[in-house]
This record gives sequence, structure tokens and C-alpha cells, in this order.
Amino acid sequence: MRIRVAGISEDSIVDGPGLRLTVFLQGCPHHCKGCHNPETWDPTGGTLMDTRDIVAMIDKNPLLDGITLSGGEPFMQSTQCYVLALLAHSRGLNVWCYTGYTWETIEGTLDICPLSLIREVDVLVEGPFIESQRTLELPWRGSKNQRLIDVRKSLREGYAVEYDTKG
Ligand code: SF4
Repeated sequence: MRIRVAGISEDSIVDGPGLRLTVFLQGCPHHCKGCHNPETWDPTGGTLMDTRDIVAMIDKNPLLDGITLSGGEPFMQSTQCYVLALLAHSRGLNVWCYTGYTWETIEGTLDICPLSLIREVDVLVEGPFIESQRTLELPWRGSKNQRLIDVRKSLREGYAVEYDTKG
């Protein structure tokens, strides 16, 4: 399956816990003021790849703890990201996903999209980057409005449950 990426980090230690392969998706509709990656906004930019090539990168690193889908906006290529997340889970890896959408917006699409990417995500780092709330103090987030959502617990409880960073 073809996937448009802005880049891939095969050994990230900053996009979630442990050692991760991070896929930066190309294309973002949010255009947050102060975004650090505006080159990822153009949905026709970046590089076209095959999801099988990304899975091959995952398979060649036995030390990975998980994968992270980042952006750009992963939900613009949710089918491709769903496939990557499914294959990562089948290999025992955890899946983190960044999005400029809020949990409530994504959760509201579940009925119309039952195979949504969100069902294969463990932790969602959600919400747009808001420059006036920029922080360097919160792990894995750029601004204070963004939340780390424990997706499985949130789907079970029916409301946003924040991920416990202390484990
Ligand atoms: S969602 Fe992320 S990539 Fe998109 S504009 Fe906002 S900060 Fe930039």
C-alpha cells in the first residue's frame, strides 16, 4: 500500500517511551501557528513509499519497543497507518500516534468508521499545537493543551482517560 511520508526515524527516543521507529506522515490540514514542521503540510509533498518497506525496517530492528505515527497528520492517511499499527501490534510492539485532532473529534467518527486507526493505537497524543501554551516541561508534548490519551481505557470508559506517564 502506498503511503506518503515526510521522513522516518528508525531509532527515536523522543517520540514516546523506549526505542521507537517513528513515521512522519506527509500532509497536515491544521496549520498550527508556530508548527516546527511546516514542510509536512503539503499533502502532495514528501516521498511516496510502500508500507511493506516500512514493515521491513521494523523487522530489522529487534530492539524496538514500539512505533510512533507522527506528522503531519496521521489521520489523513488513516488506512495506511491502520495497517502499520496492526502489523506492529502483531509483532508485540506498542503504537503511539500524534494528531492535531482532539480525542472527542476522533472518538465521534468511530460509528461511521469502525476500522478506524484509533482502534489500533495505544496512546494518542492529541490536540493542535498552541503557541501561547508552548511548554518544554511536559513529556512528549509541545503545548499544555495537548493530552496523552490511554485509548483502550478511554474506549472502555466512554470518556478521555489520560495515560499514566509513571506506568
Ligand atoms: S498538527 Fe502538528 S504538524 Fe500539523 S500544523 Fe499542527 S503542529 Fe504542525
